[in-house]
Amino acid sequence: MSISQDTAQGSHAWSDAELTSAVQAYLQMLRLELNGESYSKAEINRQLREGPLATRTKASVEFRMQNISAALYELKMPWIAGYLPARNIGSAVKEKMITLLKTSGIDFLNAYVPTSHVEALDAKVAELRRRQIGKKPLGTIRPVTETRSITTYVRDPAVKAWVLQLANGVCEGCNCKAPFLGQDSLPYLEVHHVMPLSCHGSDTPSNAVALCPNCHRRCHYAYERDQFKLELYEKIPRLVLEVPEPIPSETDVFIDLDVS
Ligand SMILES: [Zn+2]
Ligand SMILES: [Zn+2]
Repeated sequence: MSISQDTAQGSHAWSDAELTSAVQAYLQMLRLELNGESYSKAEINRQLREGPLATRTKASVEFRMQNISAALYELKMPWIAGYLPARNIGSAVKEKMITLLKTSGIDFLNAYVPTSHVEALDAKVAELRRRQIGKKPLGTIRPVTETRSITTYVRDPAVKAWVLQLANGVCEGCNCKAPFLGQDSLPYLEVHHVMPLSCHGSDTPSNAVALCPNCHRRCHYAYERDQFKLELYEKIPRLVLEVPEPIPSETDVFIDLDVS
């Protein structure tokens, strides 16, 4: 058979067993690539044609690999750089490849799928840092946007101003001077609610502290943030411990950085 016949419509259709072996070989290569380990595409292509794809040409196996890249591209998952997603792939073929991929163990790729949810992003980042990324990512030149509703609290400017005035340019967490002057030419500190507003904390001086950006991030992201919170309560007599209420389920769209 000629290469063109085979790579275009194919002189005979691929069986499910053939497609599955191509997908499995592809995922094996992708795993190695993501881990930064070297492998030979030509060697794997040859092994496939000596085994389950004995009736296929080298070019037809390559083209099938590009089909798989196209399906992964559709799923917003990483694909093997050497197999550019095939453009002229029919939707039926793509759906078929997607179905096969989903039954071939692609959960390990979920951590790479972009997200607009900050908490989901951080969970993916943590997972990828645990695994180590073996290869510099391509990234996205023009990230897309998603629109959804954001819940935010109406806040009292006098409370924020009073807490900042009281701090007088010194962080109430670490007692260091504000690291720089803000756009208003005043020492830059952020006001944080010790009991988060999203846990029904109050917007009052007895629940608000003026912190440098480092201490503020520590309150939100540190491994020992609960301990740090207790230290703030002990250190700042103005603060009154409030009883938390359950966090609403839509918290992942609640932005609580208290920065603005
Ligand atoms: Zn500080
Ligand atoms: Zn905060």
